[in-house]
Amino acid sequence: MQKTLIIGAGLLGLSTAKALHDLGREVEVLDAAEEVGLGASYANGGMLTASMSDPWNSPGVHRHLASSLFDPTSPMKLHLKAIPTLFCWGLKFLRNSTSRRHTHAVQSNYALASYSIGQTRAWREQLDLDYNAAAAGSMKIFRNPSAAQGPLALAKALHPAGLRFHQLDVDGVLEYEPMLHDIRDQITGALYFPGDESGDAHLFCRALKRYLQNQGVMVNTGVPVESLMIAKGRIRGVRTQSKEYIADCVVVAAGTQTPALLKGTGISLSIAPAKGYSVTFCGEDAGPLPTIPVIDDAMHAAISPLGNQLRAVGTAEFTGFDKRLSQVRIDNLVNLLKALYPRIAAQIDLNKAEPWTDFRPMSSDGKPFIGESCVKGLYINSGHGHLGWTKAAGSACLLADLMTARTPAINDKPFAVHR
Ligand SMILES: Cc1cc2nc3c(=O)[nH]c(=O)nc-3n(C[C@H](O)[C@H](O)[C@H](O)COP(=O)(O)OP(=O)(O)OC[C@H]3O[C@@H](n4cnc5c(N)ncnc54)[C@H](O)[C@@H]3O)c2cc1C
Repeated sequence: MQKTLIIGAGLLGLSTAKALHDLGREVEVLDAAEEVGLGASYANGGMLTASMSDPWNSPGVHRHLASSLFDPTSPMKLHLKAIPTLFCWGLKFLRNSTSRRHTHAVQSNYALASYSIGQTRAWREQLDLDYNAAAAGSMKIFRNPSAAQGPLALAKALHPAGLRFHQLDVDGVLEYEPMLHDIRDQITGALYFPGDESGDAHLFCRALKRYLQNQGVMVNTGVPVESLMIAKGRIRGVRTQSKEYIADCVVVAAGTQTPALLKGTGISLSIAPAKGYSVTFCGEDAGPLPTIPVIDDAMHAAISPLGNQLRAVGTAEFTGFDKRLSQVRIDNLVNLLKALYPRIAAQIDLNKAEPWTDFRPMSSDGKPFIGESCVKGLYINSGHGHLGWTKAAGSACLLADLMTARTPAINDKPFAVHR
Protein backbone atom coordinates (compact mmCIF):
# COMPACT_ATOMS: atom_id res chain seq x y z
CA MET A 1 0.00 0.00 0.00
CA GLN A 2 1.24 3.53 -0.80
CA LYS A 3 2.39 5.43 2.26
CA THR A 4 1.76 9.17 2.73
CA LEU A 5 3.46 11.40 5.27
CA ILE A 6 1.66 14.57 6.30
CA ILE A 7 3.69 17.46 7.71
CA GLY A 8 1.55 19.53 10.06
CA ALA A 9 -1.14 18.54 12.57
CA GLY A 10 -3.24 21.68 12.35
CA LEU A 11 -6.70 21.80 10.79
CA LEU A 12 -5.37 21.17 7.29
CA GLY A 13 -2.92 18.35 8.10
CA LEU A 14 -5.31 16.39 10.34
CA SER A 15 -8.23 16.83 7.93
CA THR A 16 -6.03 15.61 5.08
CA ALA A 17 -5.06 12.57 7.15
CA LYS A 18 -8.74 11.78 7.78
CA ALA A 19 -9.75 12.19 4.14
CA LEU A 20 -6.87 10.04 2.86
CA HIS A 21 -7.41 7.37 5.51
CA ASP A 22 -11.08 7.19 4.49
CA LEU A 23 -9.94 6.43 0.94
CA GLY A 24 -7.77 3.56 2.13
CA ARG A 25 -4.38 5.26 2.14
CA GLU A 26 -1.76 4.51 4.78
CA VAL A 27 -0.95 7.83 6.45
CA GLU A 28 1.34 9.13 9.19
CA VAL A 29 1.30 12.67 10.59
CA LEU A 30 4.33 14.61 11.88
CA ASP A 31 4.18 17.88 13.79
CA ALA A 32 6.87 19.95 15.42
CA ALA A 33 4.71 21.10 18.34
CA GLU A 34 4.05 19.15 21.53
CA GLU A 35 0.35 18.72 20.75
CA VAL A 36 -1.91 18.91 17.70
CA GLY A 37 -3.59 22.17 16.68
CA LEU A 38 -1.32 24.56 18.55
CA GLY A 39 -0.58 26.79 15.51
CA ALA A 40 -3.09 29.05 13.76
CA SER A 41 -5.75 26.40 14.45
CA TYR A 42 -5.63 26.89 18.23
CA ALA A 43 -7.90 29.79 19.24
CA ASN A 44 -9.18 31.12 15.94
CA GLY A 45 -12.55 32.82 15.52
CA GLY A 46 -14.37 29.49 15.37
CA MET A 47 -16.52 30.58 12.43
CA LEU A 48 -17.21 28.49 9.34
CA THR A 49 -18.32 31.27 7.08
CA ALA A 50 -18.71 30.67 3.36
CA SER A 51 -20.31 34.13 3.49
CA MET A 52 -16.83 35.60 4.07
CA SER A 53 -15.25 34.14 0.92
CA ASP A 54 -13.83 37.47 -0.24
CA PRO A 55 -10.03 37.70 -0.02
CA TRP A 56 -8.69 40.69 1.89
CA ASN A 57 -6.98 42.23 -1.14
CA SER A 58 -10.15 43.80 -2.43
CA PRO A 59 -9.90 46.65 -4.97
CA GLY A 60 -8.56 49.76 -3.19
CA VAL A 61 -6.65 47.78 -0.53
CA HIS A 62 -3.43 49.71 -1.37
CA ARG A 63 -4.93 52.95 0.00
CA HIS A 64 -6.06 51.19 3.14
CA LEU A 65 -2.63 49.61 3.77
CA ALA A 66 -0.79 52.89 3.13
CA SER A 67 -2.93 54.78 5.65
CA SER A 68 -2.58 51.92 8.18
CA LEU A 69 1.19 52.56 8.43
CA PHE A 70 0.50 55.49 10.76
CA ASP A 71 -2.63 54.22 12.52
CA PRO A 72 -1.94 51.81 15.42
CA THR A 73 -5.62 50.81 15.70
CA SER A 74 -6.23 50.05 12.01
CA PRO A 75 -7.96 46.63 11.67
CA MET A 76 -5.64 45.67 8.79
CA LYS A 77 -2.21 47.07 9.59
CA LEU A 78 1.05 47.07 7.67
CA HIS A 79 4.16 47.60 9.83
CA LEU A 80 7.08 49.51 8.29
CA LYS A 81 9.62 46.95 9.51
CA ALA A 82 7.82 44.13 7.64
CA ILE A 83 7.98 45.82 4.24
CA PRO A 84 11.41 44.42 3.15
CA THR A 85 10.45 40.79 3.90
CA LEU A 86 7.00 41.21 2.37
CA PHE A 87 8.11 42.96 -0.80
CA CYS A 88 7.55 40.20 -3.41
CA TRP A 89 4.47 38.82 -1.67
CA GLY A 90 3.09 42.35 -1.28
CA LEU A 91 3.46 43.15 -4.98
CA LYS A 92 1.52 40.00 -5.86
CA PHE A 93 -1.07 40.79 -3.17
CA LEU A 94 -1.64 44.19 -4.80
CA ARG A 95 -1.57 42.77 -8.35
CA ASN A 96 -4.40 40.42 -7.36
CA SER A 97 -6.57 43.23 -6.03
CA THR A 98 -8.05 44.12 -9.41
CA SER A 99 -11.78 43.78 -9.63
CA ARG A 100 -11.58 40.90 -12.14
CA ARG A 101 -9.11 38.80 -10.12
CA HIS A 102 -10.85 39.53 -6.84
CA THR A 103 -14.23 38.45 -8.23
CA HIS A 104 -12.71 35.25 -9.61
CA ALA A 105 -11.14 34.46 -6.21
CA VAL A 106 -14.42 35.16 -4.37
CA GLN A 107 -16.33 32.70 -6.58
CA SER A 108 -13.68 29.96 -6.32
CA ASN A 109 -13.38 30.40 -2.57
CA TYR A 110 -17.14 30.26 -2.13
CA ALA A 111 -17.34 26.95 -4.04
CA LEU A 112 -14.65 25.46 -1.78
CA ALA A 113 -16.01 26.98 1.46
CA SER A 114 -19.61 25.86 0.96
CA TYR A 115 -18.50 22.36 -0.08
CA SER A 116 -16.26 22.29 2.98
CA ILE A 117 -18.98 23.22 5.47
CA GLY A 118 -21.02 20.32 4.09
CA GLN A 119 -18.07 17.95 4.55
CA THR A 120 -17.45 19.21 8.11
CA ARG A 121 -21.11 18.54 8.93
CA ALA A 122 -20.88 15.04 7.40
CA TRP A 123 -17.75 14.23 9.45
CA ARG A 124 -19.41 15.56 12.62
CA GLU A 125 -22.37 13.27 12.11
CA GLN A 126 -20.33 10.28 10.92
CA LEU A 127 -17.85 10.38 13.82
CA ASP A 128 -20.02 12.07 16.46
CA LEU A 129 -17.30 14.72 16.82
CA ASP A 130 -17.68 16.96 19.85
CA TYR A 131 -16.20 20.44 19.26
CA ASN A 132 -18.93 22.79 20.53
CA ALA A 133 -20.38 22.89 17.03
CA ALA A 134 -23.37 25.10 16.28
CA ALA A 135 -25.27 25.36 13.00
CA ALA A 136 -26.94 28.65 13.92
CA GLY A 137 -25.63 30.72 10.99
CA SER A 138 -23.70 33.97 11.35
CA MET A 139 -24.75 37.60 11.38
CA LYS A 140 -22.99 40.76 10.18
CA ILE A 141 -24.37 43.87 11.89
CA PHE A 142 -24.14 47.46 10.63
CA ARG A 143 -24.10 50.71 12.54
CA ASN A 144 -25.03 52.87 9.55
CA PRO A 145 -27.11 52.03 6.46
CA SER A 146 -24.40 52.84 3.91
CA ALA A 147 -22.01 50.31 5.52
CA ALA A 148 -24.34 47.51 4.39
CA GLN A 149 -23.91 48.26 0.68
CA GLY A 150 -20.61 46.41 0.02
CA PRO A 151 -21.51 43.25 2.02
CA LEU A 152 -24.99 43.21 0.45
CA ALA A 153 -23.48 43.39 -3.06
CA LEU A 154 -21.16 40.49 -2.18
CA ALA A 155 -24.06 38.41 -0.84
CA LYS A 156 -26.10 39.10 -3.99
CA ALA A 157 -23.13 38.15 -6.19
CA LEU A 158 -22.79 34.79 -4.39
CA HIS A 159 -26.52 34.07 -4.21
CA PRO A 160 -26.65 32.38 -7.67
CA ALA A 161 -23.84 30.07 -6.49
CA GLY A 162 -25.94 29.04 -3.47
CA LEU A 163 -25.29 31.57 -0.69
CA ARG A 164 -28.45 32.07 1.37
CA PHE A 165 -28.88 35.34 3.23
CA HIS A 166 -31.56 37.46 4.88
CA GLN A 167 -31.44 41.23 5.05
CA LEU A 168 -32.65 42.23 8.54
CA ASP A 169 -33.93 45.42 10.14
CA VAL A 170 -33.35 45.98 13.85
CA ASP A 171 -36.37 43.92 14.93
CA GLY A 172 -35.16 41.10 12.70
CA VAL A 173 -31.71 41.29 14.29
CA LEU A 174 -33.22 40.92 17.77
CA GLU A 175 -35.39 38.03 16.66
CA TYR A 176 -32.27 36.08 15.65
CA GLU A 177 -30.04 37.32 18.50
CA PRO A 178 -32.01 38.77 21.43
CA MET A 179 -28.78 39.30 23.39
CA LEU A 180 -28.07 42.35 21.18
CA HIS A 181 -31.04 44.10 22.78
CA ASP A 182 -28.90 46.47 24.89
CA ILE A 183 -27.39 48.08 21.77
CA ARG A 184 -30.52 48.09 19.58
CA ASP A 185 -30.31 51.89 19.20
CA GLN A 186 -26.84 51.63 17.65
CA ILE A 187 -27.71 48.99 15.03
CA THR A 188 -29.22 49.95 11.69
CA GLY A 189 -29.54 46.45 10.23
CA ALA A 190 -27.75 43.19 9.50
CA LEU A 191 -27.18 40.37 7.07
CA TYR A 192 -27.89 36.90 8.40
CA PHE A 193 -26.32 33.85 6.74
CA PRO A 194 -28.18 30.66 7.76
CA GLY A 195 -25.68 28.25 6.12
CA ASP A 196 -22.70 29.33 8.24
CA GLU A 197 -21.62 27.33 11.27
CA SER A 198 -19.26 27.64 14.23
CA GLY A 199 -17.17 25.42 16.47
CA ASP A 200 -13.93 25.21 18.40
CA ALA A 201 -11.12 24.42 15.93
CA HIS A 202 -8.73 23.13 18.58
CA LEU A 203 -11.32 20.71 19.99
CA PHE A 204 -11.96 19.59 16.38
CA CYS A 205 -8.22 18.92 15.90
CA ARG A 206 -8.07 16.91 19.12
CA ALA A 207 -11.18 14.94 18.18
CA LEU A 208 -9.70 14.15 14.74
CA LYS A 209 -6.45 13.05 16.36
CA ARG A 210 -8.33 10.64 18.67
CA TYR A 211 -10.29 9.25 15.72
CA LEU A 212 -7.13 8.78 13.63
CA GLN A 213 -5.26 7.10 16.47
CA ASN A 214 -8.19 4.76 17.10
CA GLN A 215 -7.95 3.83 13.43
CA GLY A 216 -4.27 2.96 13.88
CA VAL A 217 -2.93 6.13 12.24
CA MET A 218 0.32 7.43 13.80
CA VAL A 219 0.06 11.11 14.82
CA ASN A 220 3.56 12.06 15.98
CA THR A 221 4.00 15.33 17.87
CA GLY A 222 7.27 16.95 18.95
CA VAL A 223 8.81 15.95 15.60
CA PRO A 224 10.09 18.93 13.60
CA VAL A 225 10.76 18.07 9.96
CA GLU A 226 14.07 19.56 8.86
CA SER A 227 14.03 18.84 5.13
CA LEU A 228 12.35 16.97 2.32
CA MET A 229 14.15 14.08 0.63
CA ILE A 230 13.89 14.42 -3.13
CA ALA A 231 15.71 12.35 -5.75
CA LYS A 232 15.30 12.34 -9.54
CA GLY A 233 12.32 14.72 -9.35
CA ARG A 234 10.42 12.47 -6.92
CA ILE A 235 9.76 12.72 -3.19
CA ARG A 236 11.38 9.96 -1.12
CA GLY A 237 10.43 11.05 2.39
CA VAL A 238 11.43 13.59 5.03
CA ARG A 239 14.35 14.10 7.36
CA THR A 240 14.15 15.00 11.05
CA GLN A 241 17.09 15.52 13.42
CA SER A 242 17.04 11.89 14.54
CA LYS A 243 15.72 9.86 11.61
CA GLU A 244 14.49 9.61 8.04
CA TYR A 245 10.85 8.81 7.29
CA ILE A 246 10.47 7.08 3.92
CA ALA A 247 7.20 7.50 1.99
CA ASP A 248 5.69 7.39 -1.50
CA CYS A 249 3.91 10.73 -1.03
CA VAL A 250 4.34 13.75 1.25
CA VAL A 251 1.72 16.41 1.94
CA VAL A 252 3.02 19.73 3.28
CA ALA A 253 0.32 21.29 5.47
CA ALA A 254 2.60 23.35 7.67
CA GLY A 255 0.65 26.62 7.63
CA THR A 256 2.92 29.67 7.54
CA GLN A 257 5.99 27.37 7.65
CA THR A 258 5.10 25.76 4.31
CA PRO A 259 7.32 28.06 2.17
CA ALA A 260 10.30 27.51 4.53
CA LEU A 261 9.94 23.72 4.23
CA LEU A 262 9.89 23.98 0.45
CA LYS A 263 13.11 26.01 0.28
CA GLY A 264 15.59 24.44 -2.10
CA THR A 265 12.95 22.37 -3.90
CA GLY A 266 12.34 24.95 -6.64
CA ILE A 267 8.74 25.37 -5.43
CA SER A 268 8.04 28.91 -4.34
CA LEU A 269 4.64 29.51 -2.75
CA SER A 270 3.50 33.04 -2.12
CA ILE A 271 2.30 32.67 1.49
CA ALA A 272 2.88 35.32 4.19
CA PRO A 273 1.97 35.47 7.90
CA ALA A 274 -1.02 37.71 8.66
CA LYS A 275 -1.08 38.14 12.42
CA GLY A 276 -4.44 37.93 14.18
CA TYR A 277 -5.66 38.09 17.76
CA SER A 278 -8.38 36.50 19.83
CA VAL A 279 -9.52 36.89 23.42
CA THR A 280 -11.50 34.05 24.99
CA PHE A 281 -13.88 34.85 27.85
CA CYS A 282 -15.37 32.30 30.21
CA GLY A 283 -19.12 32.93 30.18
CA GLU A 284 -20.04 30.31 32.81
CA ASP A 285 -21.41 32.80 35.38
CA ALA A 286 -22.71 35.37 32.91
CA GLY A 287 -26.26 34.05 32.52
CA PRO A 288 -27.63 33.41 29.03
CA LEU A 289 -25.07 33.83 26.24
CA PRO A 290 -25.57 34.76 22.58
CA THR A 291 -26.03 31.83 20.21
CA ILE A 292 -24.93 33.30 16.86
CA PRO A 293 -21.45 34.51 15.85
CA VAL A 294 -21.82 38.26 15.28
CA ILE A 295 -19.47 40.21 13.03
CA ASP A 296 -19.41 43.91 13.83
CA ASP A 297 -18.74 45.52 10.47
CA ALA A 298 -17.69 48.86 11.99
CA MET A 299 -15.10 47.26 14.28
CA HIS A 300 -13.92 44.66 11.70
CA ALA A 301 -14.13 42.04 14.41
CA ALA A 302 -16.45 39.30 15.63
CA ILE A 303 -17.66 37.50 18.72
CA SER A 304 -18.38 33.76 18.56
CA PRO A 305 -20.14 31.72 21.19
CA LEU A 306 -18.22 28.44 21.68
CA GLY A 307 -19.94 26.31 24.31
CA ASN A 308 -19.80 28.29 27.55
CA GLN A 309 -17.14 30.61 26.19
CA LEU A 310 -17.25 33.76 24.10
CA ARG A 311 -14.37 34.48 21.76
CA ALA A 312 -13.64 37.93 20.36
CA VAL A 313 -11.49 37.86 17.25
CA GLY A 314 -10.15 40.23 14.69
CA THR A 315 -7.39 42.30 13.10
CA ALA A 316 -4.73 41.48 10.56
CA GLU A 317 -1.23 42.78 11.01
CA PHE A 318 1.58 42.37 8.52
CA THR A 319 4.50 42.34 10.90
CA GLY A 320 6.56 39.28 9.90
CA PHE A 321 6.72 36.52 12.54
CA ASP A 322 6.62 38.89 15.54
CA LYS A 323 4.61 36.86 18.09
CA ARG A 324 4.35 39.56 20.79
CA LEU A 325 0.86 40.32 22.13
CA SER A 326 -0.03 43.96 21.53
CA GLN A 327 -2.02 45.40 24.44
CA VAL A 328 -3.77 47.84 22.05
CA ARG A 329 -5.10 44.93 19.99
CA ILE A 330 -6.20 42.97 23.05
CA ASP A 331 -7.92 46.04 24.50
CA ASN A 332 -9.76 46.49 21.17
CA LEU A 333 -11.20 42.98 21.46
CA VAL A 334 -12.20 43.43 25.11
CA ASN A 335 -13.86 46.70 24.06
CA LEU A 336 -15.71 44.81 21.33
CA LEU A 337 -17.28 42.57 23.99
CA LYS A 338 -18.28 45.67 25.97
CA ALA A 339 -19.64 47.33 22.85
CA LEU A 340 -21.75 44.36 21.69
CA TYR A 341 -22.83 42.76 24.97
CA PRO A 342 -22.36 45.36 27.76
CA ARG A 343 -24.41 43.39 30.29
CA ILE A 344 -22.44 40.18 29.75
CA ALA A 345 -19.12 42.08 29.86
CA ALA A 346 -20.13 43.48 33.26
CA GLN A 347 -20.76 39.96 34.60
CA ILE A 348 -17.58 38.33 33.27
CA ASP A 349 -14.25 38.40 35.10
CA LEU A 350 -12.25 40.15 32.36
CA ASN A 351 -8.98 39.47 34.22
CA LYS A 352 -9.44 35.79 33.44
CA ALA A 353 -9.80 36.40 29.69
CA GLU A 354 -7.27 34.51 27.57
CA PRO A 355 -5.51 36.56 24.88
CA TRP A 356 -3.88 34.74 21.98
CA THR A 357 -2.15 35.58 18.74
CA ASP A 358 -0.95 33.60 15.73
CA PHE A 359 -0.45 33.91 11.98
CA ARG A 360 -2.93 33.19 9.22
CA PRO A 361 -1.12 31.53 6.27
CA MET A 362 -2.18 34.13 3.70
CA SER A 363 -1.63 33.53 -0.02
CA SER A 364 -1.11 36.58 -2.20
CA ASP A 365 -4.11 35.81 -4.42
CA GLY A 366 -6.43 34.89 -1.54
CA LYS A 367 -6.82 31.24 -2.56
CA PRO A 368 -5.20 28.19 -0.93
CA PHE A 369 -2.70 25.91 -2.69
CA ILE A 370 -4.14 22.41 -3.02
CA GLY A 371 -2.61 19.76 -5.25
CA GLU A 372 0.58 18.20 -6.54
CA SER A 373 3.75 20.24 -6.98
CA CYS A 374 6.33 19.89 -9.75
CA VAL A 375 8.06 17.24 -7.60
CA LYS A 376 6.30 13.92 -8.16
CA GLY A 377 4.50 12.72 -5.03
CA LEU A 378 4.93 16.04 -3.19
CA TYR A 379 1.57 17.65 -2.45
CA ILE A 380 0.55 20.92 -0.80
CA ASN A 381 -2.49 21.82 1.31
CA SER A 382 -1.74 25.29 2.63
CA GLY A 383 -2.29 29.04 2.40
CA HIS A 384 -5.91 29.20 3.59
CA GLY A 385 -5.59 32.64 5.15
CA HIS A 386 -8.61 33.86 7.12
CA LEU A 387 -10.77 30.85 6.15
CA GLY A 388 -8.68 27.79 7.06
CA TRP A 389 -11.26 26.44 9.51
CA THR A 390 -14.08 26.96 7.03
CA LYS A 391 -12.18 25.25 4.22
CA ALA A 392 -10.31 22.50 6.09
CA ALA A 393 -12.55 19.47 5.46
CA GLY A 394 -13.31 20.45 1.86
CA SER A 395 -9.67 21.12 1.00
CA ALA A 396 -8.73 17.77 2.51
CA CYS A 397 -11.38 15.89 0.49
CA LEU A 398 -10.38 17.75 -2.67
CA LEU A 399 -6.72 16.85 -2.21
CA ALA A 400 -7.50 13.24 -1.27
CA ASP A 401 -9.58 12.88 -4.45
CA LEU A 402 -6.74 14.30 -6.56
CA MET A 403 -4.19 12.01 -4.90
CA THR A 404 -6.28 8.91 -5.54
CA ALA A 405 -7.27 9.84 -9.11
CA ARG A 406 -10.94 10.38 -8.24
CA THR A 407 -13.00 13.10 -9.87
CA PRO A 408 -13.17 15.92 -7.31
CA ALA A 409 -16.56 17.29 -6.25
CA ILE A 410 -15.51 20.86 -7.12
CA ASN A 411 -13.18 22.47 -9.65
CA ASP A 412 -9.60 22.14 -8.39
CA LYS A 413 -7.98 24.37 -11.04
CA PRO A 414 -8.25 27.70 -9.11
CA PHE A 415 -6.24 26.13 -6.28
CA ALA A 416 -3.52 24.46 -8.41
CA VAL A 417 -0.05 24.77 -6.87
CA HIS A 418 1.38 26.17 -10.11
CA ARG A 419 -1.15 28.74 -11.29
C1 LIG B 1 -6.84 35.21 14.92
C2 LIG B 1 -7.30 34.23 13.88
C3 LIG B 1 -8.66 34.04 13.68
C4 LIG B 1 -9.11 33.16 12.71
N1 LIG B 1 -10.45 32.95 12.58
C5 LIG B 1 -10.89 32.06 11.66
C6 LIG B 1 -12.29 31.79 11.55
O1 LIG B 1 -13.11 32.27 12.32
N2 LIG B 1 -12.69 30.95 10.55
C7 LIG B 1 -11.81 30.37 9.68
O2 LIG B 1 -12.24 29.68 8.77
N3 LIG B 1 -10.47 30.56 9.80
C8 LIG B 1 -10.00 31.40 10.77
N4 LIG B 1 -8.66 31.62 10.91
C9 LIG B 1 -7.74 30.98 9.96
C10 LIG B 1 -7.43 29.54 10.34
O3 LIG B 1 -7.27 29.43 11.73
C11 LIG B 1 -6.14 29.10 9.61
O4 LIG B 1 -6.29 29.32 8.22
C12 LIG B 1 -5.89 27.62 9.84
O5 LIG B 1 -5.79 27.35 11.23
C13 LIG B 1 -4.62 27.16 9.15
O6 LIG B 1 -4.46 25.81 9.46
P1 LIG B 1 -3.12 25.05 9.05
O7 LIG B 1 -3.30 23.64 9.42
O8 LIG B 1 -2.78 25.39 7.64
O9 LIG B 1 -1.98 25.77 9.91
P2 LIG B 1 -1.59 25.56 11.48
O10 LIG B 1 -2.79 25.38 12.32
O11 LIG B 1 -0.68 26.67 11.80
O12 LIG B 1 -0.84 24.18 11.45
C14 LIG B 1 0.43 24.03 10.88
C15 LIG B 1 1.15 22.97 11.69
O13 LIG B 1 2.39 22.67 11.05
C16 LIG B 1 3.34 22.43 12.03
N5 LIG B 1 4.67 22.62 11.46
C17 LIG B 1 5.20 23.75 10.94
N6 LIG B 1 6.45 23.54 10.51
C18 LIG B 1 6.72 22.24 10.76
C19 LIG B 1 7.85 21.42 10.55
N7 LIG B 1 8.98 21.88 10.00
N8 LIG B 1 7.79 20.13 10.93
C20 LIG B 1 6.67 19.61 11.52
N9 LIG B 1 5.58 20.36 11.73
C21 LIG B 1 5.59 21.65 11.36
C22 LIG B 1 3.00 23.44 13.12
O14 LIG B 1 3.54 23.01 14.38
C23 LIG B 1 1.50 23.46 13.09
O15 LIG B 1 0.92 22.58 14.03
C24 LIG B 1 -8.17 32.47 11.89
C25 LIG B 1 -6.80 32.63 12.12
C26 LIG B 1 -6.36 33.49 13.11
C27 LIG B 1 -4.88 33.62 13.35
